[in-house]
Amino acid sequence: MSSLPLVETAQPQQYFQKGLGLKAVAQEQLSRHYHSRLVEYLRTHEHNLRVGNLHFFLAKEFGFCYGVDRAVEYAYQAREKFPERRIFLTGEIIHNPHVNYRMLEMGIGFLSGQYSQDVSFENLRKEDVVILPAFGVTTAEFQRLSNIGCIMIDTTCGSVLNVWKRVEQYARDGFTSVIHGKYSHEETRATSSQATKYEHGHFLVVCDMEETEMVCAYIAGRLSREEFLFHFKNALSPGFEPEQHLQKIGVANQTTMLSSESLAIAERLKQAMLTRYGSGDIANHFRNFDTICSATQDRQDAVLELVKQQRLDLMLVIGGYNSSNTNHLVDLASTYTKAYHIDDPSCLESVDCIRHKPSGQSEEVTSREWLPKGGAKIGLTAGASTPNNKVGEALERLTQLRGYNVEDWMMS
Ligand code: SF4
Repeated sequence: MSSLPLVETAQPQQYFQKGLGLKAVAQEQLSRHYHSRLVEYLRTHEHNLRVGNLHFFLAKEFGFCYGVDRAVEYAYQAREKFPERRIFLTGEIIHNPHVNYRMLEMGIGFLSGQYSQDVSFENLRKEDVVILPAFGVTTAEFQRLSNIGCIMIDTTCGSVLNVWKRVEQYARDGFTSVIHGKYSHEETRATSSQATKYEHGHFLVVCDMEETEMVCAYIAGRLSREEFLFHFKNALSPGFEPEQHLQKIGVANQTTMLSSESLAIAERLKQAMLTRYGSGDIANHFRNFDTICSATQDRQDAVLELVKQQRLDLMLVIGGYNSSNTNHLVDLASTYTKAYHIDDPSCLESVDCIRHKPSGQSEEVTSREWLPKGGAKIGLTAGASTPNNKVGEALERLTQLRGYNVEDWMMS
């Protein structure tokens, strides 16, 4: 079996992976755009604040993670370094509408997705600057940009690179990567492409336990090849033959999945392989590495700690509706209390009306009577792609709707 990659991704001549030497300038701008005095106040006051008869509790870990911090900072550095050049992102820099609109305001365009305008990969020129997001890009996209010769600013998060290493290792050793993730998510597309860099490298993406059960049913001989291939047709590497490519599997995760679910999926797959191949030979058939990143884990743990410690009346979770890690925070919180996922403080329309995306649904809905009439204990958290100013604005807006001036209560 060949261990040589099919795609040798040559690096372009101007390739920046460690910033552009303009950290101080970028940090000053970031602070101006995303800082929140209110959030800092909460951080230094045991993460809670009483405003009238509302008592707010901020999760211990929330908001921008190290990978997002770095990606956004590099975009600001790029704007400073190349003021005259066209600069593009391959897609959303992170899954937060506020930050993506800010990129557009800074004159940074998008080559794909809902924020793209008139330039796509086809129209790129050698002298253009292209920023690769924290999720990374596929090997094919990287190769394409290298071939054009663009200046590349690579912000792929170190935790994502670690997953890539695992998947590469699986492919080199003849193991199929079974990736717990969403096959259309940028990170999972990029990660799975690492498997197919290698001859004989294959991948399968499972999004939840239900799909994992289907894989286990195939392994146990309870699901036909046709049913398997039909169900997973969008989530498989080209040429995937389940009988052959499910004999040796290695599990990895999209970094932002629900960690408890990822662990359960890995365990379920291990049991299926043990049943089929026996414990004596399991090392030749099954491998697993938990690749949930520490930032995702910390935010999930902090939500659980908060909802278990406080009898909250409700929890506000702030973050993009397409943000995987934010959605998982909502899922966790909603098992203990009413959880409202809002993508912007303006979703808090009035004390009687809120726009939000319910857990497990894809569309925003409007709900009434969401805020208790009297006193309330309210939890707050934000996904890894939500800047602090949006958290502070949400809290401030809610207090204003109740007729309070939050500043009065910060002094007391
Ligand atoms: S969520 Fe984790 S993997 Fe993704 S950018 Fe943040 S730190 Fe990196």
